[in-house]
Amino acid sequence: MTKDYYKILDIPEFSSAEEIKSAYRHLARKWHPDVAGNSPDIIARFKEINEAYEILSDNTRKANYDKARRFYSYAKTSKENKTNYKTTENPNKTSSGFHFRWEDIFSSKQKESSNVKPPKRGDDIYSDVEISVFEAINGTTKIINMLQTNICPKCSGRKFVNGSQCSHCKGKGETSTYKRFSVKIPAGIKDKSKIRVAEEGEKGLNGGRDGDLYLTIHIKEPKNYKTDGLNILKNIAITPSEAVLGGNVTVPTLRGNISLKISPNTKNGQKIRLSGCGIEQNNKFGDMIVTVEIQIPKNLTDEEISLYKRLQEISGENIRERLEW
Ligand SMILES: [Zn+2]
Repeated sequence: MTKDYYKILDIPEFSSAEEIKSAYRHLARKWHPDVAGNSPDIIARFKEINEAYEILSDNTRKANYDKARRFYSYAKTSKENKTNYKTTENPNKTSSGFHFRWEDIFSSKQKESSNVKPPKRGDDIYSDVEISVFEAINGTTKIINMLQTNICPKCSGRKFVNGSQCSHCKGKGETSTYKRFSVKIPAGIKDKSKIRVAEEGEKGLNGGRDGDLYLTIHIKEPKNYKTDGLNILKNIAITPSEAVLGGNVTVPTLRGNISLKISPNTKNGQKIRLSGCGIEQNNKFGDMIVTVEIQIPKNLTDEEISLYKRLQEISGENIRERLEW
């Protein structure tokens, strides 16, 4: 008799089955290595508590143990304990195949909350969507193809099922699938706005709700023009002679090419408004605002250069008059 199981469970000898169970639950929870730590002392203590309960919760083994224990105390108190004697049962030996019972540590309600993992909300996913200026102004519906990674439903992320590699996820523990869905982008959305798509993020676990998808809107500025509300701003190059003499320039607009009349004596940077040639929204049309840029042709012919020389010689007006102090 090396162990006093009543002492281990800290209960008097004539405790009821219910009291034994209650004491065991209390101590098993307190000394569970998940709670108390993994040191050898704690593991030994936890094992001892379970061993005690295994004996004391079994009527037959408890009866044998009680008999042996009483005999042992008797022998000890009568100081006749000089010879070795055998107990009717060696509890240490019988409990060598010790196996603790969770159902005894936790009541059914507690068991639910400890064995069944708590619900975990899925992670949010962040992504980007590029739309055109026209889509931003008028609103649009975009088809989003989203790669979603989820915990493998077959192995629950453990990668193995019954000791062999999970066939569903091929041992990755997670599965990736493309999910297609449409997202409505409201009219008048601003660049860098975020749209939340509820529950299109990663899957929740254990009944937790799915994460959300956050889409950042990027409005793609066209290369050849800028926009200002419904207006389109565009630069148009004209030659020095067009600036002086005027002329007609072909300008591409959203509704096809138009011929823009350049008046004689047009200055660099001068703005010309083309009414109704801007962006449409709800049957309202913006304007196109053309800024004139006088550009020198890159490859002038000898003839052109000689004409410029002649022009220089005959030019009478001093355009730098105002530069003088
Ligand atoms: Zn799997």
